[in-house]
Amino acid sequence: MEALGITARLANLNAHHLVELLNDKLFDPILPSHQPLSISRRLFVTWVFLYFGSLIVYFTFASLDFLIHFRLLAHRCLPENYLQTTQVRREITTSVKSLSIMAAMTTPFEILIQLGYGKIYYDPAKYGYAYLFVSPLLFLAFSDCVIYFVHRALHHPLLYKTFHKPHHSFINTTPFAAFAFHPVDGFAQGLSYLIFVFLVPFHAVVHLASLVVVSCWTMNIHDRVTWRIPGVNGAAHHTIHHTTFKSNYGQYTTLWDKLCGTFRDPHQWKQAGSPTLTEKQVYGKHA
Ligand SMILES: [Zn+2]
Ligand SMILES: [Zn+2]
Repeated sequence: MEALGITARLANLNAHHLVELLNDKLFDPILPSHQPLSISRRLFVTWVFLYFGSLIVYFTFASLDFLIHFRLLAHRCLPENYLQTTQVRREITTSVKSLSIMAAMTTPFEILIQLGYGKIYYDPAKYGYAYLFVSPLLFLAFSDCVIYFVHRALHHPLLYKTFHKPHHSFINTTPFAAFAFHPVDGFAQGLSYLIFVFLVPFHAVVHLASLVVVSCWTMNIHDRVTWRIPGVNGAAHHTIHHTTFKSNYGQYTTLWDKLCGTFRDPHQWKQAGSPTLTEKQVYGKHA
């Protein structure tokens, strides 16, 4: 019986249910709503859910990563200037501002999903349990490919200065830089997560859990501490991206960088004296 209770509670951990719960418990006592929710009410509550949900994930995991992985384990192998307090403050303020707009841009897509226009499903047995476990891998593979090309496009001189430069103003990143983007940049790089659920069946709870995992991964690749796992695009790869601009555009794997000739191996890069490039060297007048 207890196991059934846990399963039922887990099944409720989906965006649709959480938005309705937020409305019932937090907003209805202040301003009662009618069922079904009006579109304006749904827009507002969904934005609150997305924004404050992403802030909770951001501050929880970036703080843990910062305190445990970044400061405790890595400080010996990082350069003297590994931590600049003013920079961390700027990473946080940029992320907090940007996440509010990114949440607003994501809200219409999330509402379409809530209204049943996506391929989100709620019964874990609908496509079988094997598919349930494989689907997050499909989600990662799809996002890995799309993010590579979106990220590469953002480095085009016509787009770079307006949209991607704010993120690259952080050279020696910390986990708090994970969402320090121009909102259009952050939204574009997260677009694959939205498109996927309109193309491929994805269980609601697995979808929400996958979003938390990819958010944590984004923090992880900005902490400058890497675990060398073959084929995985870790923090060392992303550090090279932040210091050379023209390589390692990948997010989860090194596959697309290798296929498209933009891969730079962190070990060889270190052996070569970790050469860096400046924005001016790469973009000239577009910097
Ligand atoms: Zn970039
Ligand atoms: Zn970055």
